[in-house]
Amino acid sequence: MDFRLTPEDEKYRQEFRAWLEKAFPTNEPPPKLDTLEAEKNAYQNYQRKLFDGGYAGIRYPKEYGGQEGTLMQQIIVNEELTPYTDARGAYINGIGMGMALPTINAAGTKEQKDMFIRKLLDGTHVWVQAFSEPNAGSDVASITTRAVKKGDHYLVNGQKVWTTYAHQADYSLLLVRTNPDKPKHKGLSYLLLDLKSPGVEIRRIKQISGEAHFNEIFLEDVKIPTNMLVGKEDDGWRTALTTLGFERAAGDLATAYRYMRWFDRMIEMARGITRRGKPILEDPGIRQRIAECYARLLMLKYTGFRNANKVESGGVPGPEGSIGKLFHSTLFAKMTELAMEIQGPYHQLMKGSPQALLDGDFQTSFLMARGSLIAAGSTEIMKNIIGERVLHLPKDMARAAITERS
Ligand SMILES: Cc1cc2nc3c(=O)[nH]c(=O)nc-3n(C[C@H](O)[C@H](O)[C@H](O)COP(=O)(O)OP(=O)(O)OC[C@H]3O[C@@H](n4cnc5c(N)ncnc54)[C@H](O)[C@@H]3O)c2cc1C
Repeated sequence: MDFRLTPEDEKYRQEFRAWLEKAFPTNEPPPKLDTLEAEKNAYQNYQRKLFDGGYAGIRYPKEYGGQEGTLMQQIIVNEELTPYTDARGAYINGIGMGMALPTINAAGTKEQKDMFIRKLLDGTHVWVQAFSEPNAGSDVASITTRAVKKGDHYLVNGQKVWTTYAHQADYSLLLVRTNPDKPKHKGLSYLLLDLKSPGVEIRRIKQISGEAHFNEIFLEDVKIPTNMLVGKEDDGWRTALTTLGFERAAGDLATAYRYMRWFDRMIEMARGITRRGKPILEDPGIRQRIAECYARLLMLKYTGFRNANKVESGGVPGPEGSIGKLFHSTLFAKMTELAMEIQGPYHQLMKGSPQALLDGDFQTSFLMARGSLIAAGSTEIMKNIIGERVLHLPKDMARAAITERS
């Protein structure tokens, strides 16, 4: 891949910057995100502005309001948007934009594309992913949520867990078992669930940070129309792998930009801290660790370019996406540990404490970083995938019978 911008790309970047300054003026404070409704409103306003401005769905078909633009334009837009996304609640539809959108575009029927792509691009719908169950996380092909075909609909019963942002969402990607008599990964189907359907109950789960972004979803006699099946019945594993591939591969580049911004804020914080009478940034041990994190951030960025390029040429991402996922989650854990150390005893003060530096944001990140090591496939599972499917090492015989979230 050629990383240099052509004159056209450079012009595109300048035009987009000018548009951003008008659409989200820096002298206007970002919206307050203190309630669920405020978060969702802020996200929808933000996404709608991008859509109306011609900057949503850069790689998606024009018939759905996309731009059919180039990969480089998408990269430019992602990079320039980084300072704006979290402040406007865009995280609540990360799964919608990063997983539902590319999966429906790659594997959905024409009817599903017509129903959902435009409404994802213009911010109308927020989507989530309901794969994990209490006894099926890494080994997600063991799910037991049952879907039975009854004429024009599936009748679904079961329970999902860890469904991020389900309490704010409209639709969910749903993995179900349609055939319990087939080997476990051959009896699965992939459905699109309207979360407002009767029989769907969503319960929030409180996290270690005090926030509650996760949910359990209980499904009792939920009717899902058969036209909401993606791919073929009992072949849902194939579509699930497509979604998981997008989850890992597509995230790298956006994650690299987000972490770079996070890193800059950490350095900004460090500038104000002294230890033993000297600025902490003069401490050789801290300097060395900052330099290591920065070098790793650059590695993440360029791995992200490689993955994006692969998706570009092959359509769907391969197991290499696991390298970026492993790399960025371990890097984030490392960076948040460093941020704790830089703060010294202040790292004990959580969000809401008047003396907490930057309102305890880094403390929240430190706790969330534990979850990143598990989300989208745990560190151990990523290592198994890289060993077996990327490096083609012999299979770990002890777990050869397991079909992981791979
Ligand atoms: C922040 C966060 C967000 C999430 N969001 C979602 C979401 O939106 N939707 C969704 O469906 N799920 C979501 N999940 C769930 C996530 O996918 C699972 O937690 C994950 O796949 C691990 O499954 P588990 O929790 O059941 O742990 P288990 O699979 O029980 O694993 C327990 C431990 O055993 C290890 N282990 C398991 N199998 C093997 C093996 N074969 N070899 C070596 N070690 C192994 C694991 O690495 C882990 O350390 C989220 C999780 C987190 C933390």
